Amino acid sequence: MKKTNGFYFSFLTLAAITSCFLAYQYQQKNLLPCIEKKNKKNFTDQYSQKLTQKENVVWELITTHTGVTQEQCLKNHQSHLQQETTMYKKSNKQQLKNAKKLSPKTHQLVEVVLQDFNINPQSIDIIPFKGEGSPAAADDWTLFIDEQDLLSYPLEAQYFILGHELIHIQSQDHSIRCALHRLVPNKNNKNIQSALDSLDHLQETRADTLAMLKGDKYIQGSISFFEILEKREGRNFEIASHPKTSDRIMLAKNIYSLNNDVSIKNNALA
Ligand SMILES: [Zn+2]
Repeated sequence: MKKTNGFYFSFLTLAAITSCFLAYQYQQKNLLPCIEKKNKKNFTDQYSQKLTQKENVVWELITTHTGVTQEQCLKNHQSHLQQETTMYKKSNKQQLKNAKKLSPKTHQLVEVVLQDFNINPQSIDIIPFKGEGSPAAADDWTLFIDEQDLLSYPLEAQYFILGHELIHIQSQDHSIRCALHRLVPNKNNKNIQSALDSLDHLQETRADTLAMLKGDKYIQGSISFFEILEKREGRNFEIASHPKTSDRIMLAKNIYSLNNDVSIKNNALA
């Protein structure tokens, strides 16, 4: 069927707009945009602002696909917090009874990181666990550590791994995620699942970024940790709840470059 030039023009315009929109959505969902070197001044504030912008975009997506607003989610989170705290603390007590002790070396490491993040050691439980590939994990009340796995990484990576988990604790990521999942019982829909995944992505990117903004040892630790992961998992490895490892390395190298005022040969820093 013959089509007019006007039709082709509209079609091409529509295609261009659609690809720009999809590229924008991809970037918003998966990447925290890098800051250019010329904007080095106050890059910590700029990254905090970018996280807030990303949070707004993520919640717009969640509300569009699930009908749940951020306010509703936080309200639900608050109303369950006391009950959850009691339940988790009780379960931690039981797990601590059965867990084998962490070595003094690891305890010392944890103490340093807790201090860097201004967390009172009495306010959280530290429980050894078998991470099945995760050297550490956290809910709002607990830092779980797979000591053998954690100590297999270089020291700076150990700092970052723990720092990342402490940001999850400080941001109450676990209980906020639980509140959203409570409010969205039906997950049998691709758009709903992708909206829920976008909250996980946000929480992971925030944990990476805020941990690195604590200073150079956390930034270097992030690069070291993710480069090891990338070698192990391959460049294109991806799980729905986490940003791609290559994107996390790109973010870490951008922050390293801004913090150290040096150039790293990486396309993302242009
Ligand atoms: Zn995480």
